[in-house]
Amino acid sequence: MSKDSFAQSAAYLKQAVPLMIKYQIPTTPANYTLWYSYVSASMPELNQAIDQAIKLQGTCSLTTCERLFHQYLAAQSDQQLETMKLNLAAMTSELGHTMQDALSDTGAFQAMLDRSFDRLSRIDDEGLSLEDTMGILRELVRESRDVRMSTMHFRSQLTSAEKEIKALKEALDETRKLANEDALTGLLNRRAFSLEMDSLIRNRHPFSLILTDIDRFKNFNDEYGHLLGDQVLRAFSKRLRECCKEGVSAYRLGGEEFALLLPGRSLALSRQVAESLRRAIEKMSILDRKSGRRIDHITSSFGVGEHDGTEAADPLVERVDRLLYKAKELGRNRVMPLPS
Ligand code: GH3
Ligand code: MG
Ligand code: MG
Repeated sequence: MSKDSFAQSAAYLKQAVPLMIKYQIPTTPANYTLWYSYVSASMPELNQAIDQAIKLQGTCSLTTCERLFHQYLAAQSDQQLETMKLNLAAMTSELGHTMQDALSDTGAFQAMLDRSFDRLSRIDDEGLSLEDTMGILRELVRESRDVRMSTMHFRSQLTSAEKEIKALKEALDETRKLANEDALTGLLNRRAFSLEMDSLIRNRHPFSLILTDIDRFKNFNDEYGHLLGDQVLRAFSKRLRECCKEGVSAYRLGGEEFALLLPGRSLALSRQVAESLRRAIEKMSILDRKSGRRIDHITSSFGVGEHDGTEAADPLVERVDRLLYKAKELGRNRVMPLPS
């Protein structure tokens, strides 16, 4: 078969298939041949008969297709055989185009193609009868359907696998987030604090640490209730979060104790951050909806320290914690050490 007739038959088949779908013609070998002949316009009488049927029935019924096949194609066995051969080749090529993407790396499709071409050559070599050719074509259609099915199955498996992976990834992200986040305030938690400080120390990145503890917090709970206490913690956290820019991160270490890690900031700079935070908290005002009272006497004490470049995490935290304790001792609502 010449290259041109191969390409031509593939082109005819491409035209035939949409028509068959449009008129809901079952994709049997006989129908392929019939509609292939129709688009190739090789038999004007056949085309007239089909056009007539479509005009009258709105489609070409199964019995009409069958009748036309026998009348125009089955009778002309020589021509029919030639058409079949072309058709077979065209189908193989067509299937190749449509399924190559999905199955390019699976052996199944290549194997089917190989078998089809093998049979094609047998038609030429052995001069098979129309019946034999029909048999081969029928088998090819069935096989191609199987391949199509397995492709669809393969695709849907792939899609559901992708979905599963995505869901797993989201669940993992969520777990990771939960593991590092404080549920009440949305700030990072103590675990995240330890991880980040260890990483800064390991990477020899200079940084400072601020520890802060709300003053007389127990009194808020006793006076206004635990729920309002929680509201104060959230409002406090919001102030801390406002400091979180250019690498600064805020943590709730537990209860009413918080921390800030300030990469690349000196003690003096971090003291200023703590001082402005202290003033912002002093100005905070929270409305207790239940009692209608305003809570505007929230204060917090601060300890600030700069990592000395060699000390481990725990000694640094202890050092800064002692400064915080000193701030409490000296009357609360202050930052320690004093500016030098
Ligand atoms: P100081 O100025 O010395 O820090 O006094 P304080 O009352 O803040 O200190 P203390 O450690 O005695 O009390 C802390 C209180 O914080 C005790 C506890 O009831 C309260 N608390 C801890 N976690 C939470 C929380 O998640 N929600 C609320 N509402 N209160 C909490
Ligand atoms: Mg405390
Ligand atoms: Mg406290």
